[in-house]
Amino acid sequence: MTELTGKPLSEAIRADVAARAALTPSTLAIISASEDESSAWYVRSLARAAEKVGVGCAIDELAPSADEATIAAAVRARSADPEVSGIILQTPLPPGVDQGRLVAEIDPRKDVDGANPLSIGRLAAKQPAFAPATAAAVVRLLDEHRVVMEGANAVVLGRSLVVGLPAGLLLLHRNATVTTCHSRTHDLPARTRGADILVVAIGRAHMVTPEYVTENTVVVDVGTNVDEEGNLVGDVDPSVVSVARALSPVPGGVGPVTTALLLEHTVTAAESLAAVTPRSRR
Ligand code: NAP
Repeated sequence: MTELTGKPLSEAIRADVAARAALTPSTLAIISASEDESSAWYVRSLARAAEKVGVGCAIDELAPSADEATIAAAVRARSADPEVSGIILQTPLPPGVDQGRLVAEIDPRKDVDGANPLSIGRLAAKQPAFAPATAAAVVRLLDEHRVVMEGANAVVLGRSLVVGLPAGLLLLHRNATVTTCHSRTHDLPARTRGADILVVAIGRAHMVTPEYVTENTVVVDVGTNVDEEGNLVGDVDPSVVSVARALSPVPGGVGPVTTALLLEHTVTAAESLAAVTPRSRR
């Protein structure tokens, strides 16, 4: 069984980002309006990762009671801010606000986590756009470990706009034959056992067990769940290693690559913005 570790890949991406960030100043803006502890932890770790590679990080901490107009104004301000090259609208958002309307306010050129519906539409149409970083990380991890996507049967468990759906699109663009499964799919194990590549993004700790895979299956576990002891665990049960061809670990698989790609996207956005707008006029 091969372990699809993401750490060496994330380090290589970060080194490349650091070299590029030294030439083109870039800043990632994170807009948050939540007291959620895991969200706050994620924002802090992203800010630390940005600092290490020389990417600036500007955090807008809005009140957890902020209304939609206030959050929209913050998103618009960061979209218009010439110093900012990447924008993330952190979830969860306060109850009652429309996430779809808010992400549509992110300038697509700065939409480094592919949240604006324009980005996913462009991705589907194979036009230039940032893919959601987690979905992009799945494909980068498969490339890193030389897993052939062309012609492979790929099954994606989950169809969210941030992971499952774009991961399926990216696999399709790599000429895999893609099946997307979700909560209404009948007999999941029968579907997933036909997979050469199984991407699991459902948010249910250890739901995927050995009966879901065969010895030919390469499994990418996107899940991040916290168990009763406070440990980070994936959607795939560790016992799957006794059967599957390969499995990405949690933590240490998709997660670090996702963070590295958010930073890569931020520098790429800065380079594109600098190419169209001379710095003196930004
Ligand atoms: P989500 O928005 O809750 O979507 C979950 C998807 O899984 C939905 O499409 C849902 O189906 C499907 N699903 C849920 N229960 C199912 C079941 N019992 N059987 C079959 N399908 C089921 O979650 P998400 O944002 O995509 O995140 C998925 C996981 O990835 C979570 O653990 C999350 O924490 C993790 N994640 C990790 C990273 C990273 O960087 N590593 C980034 C983002 C998310 P329906 O559409 O029918 O409801």
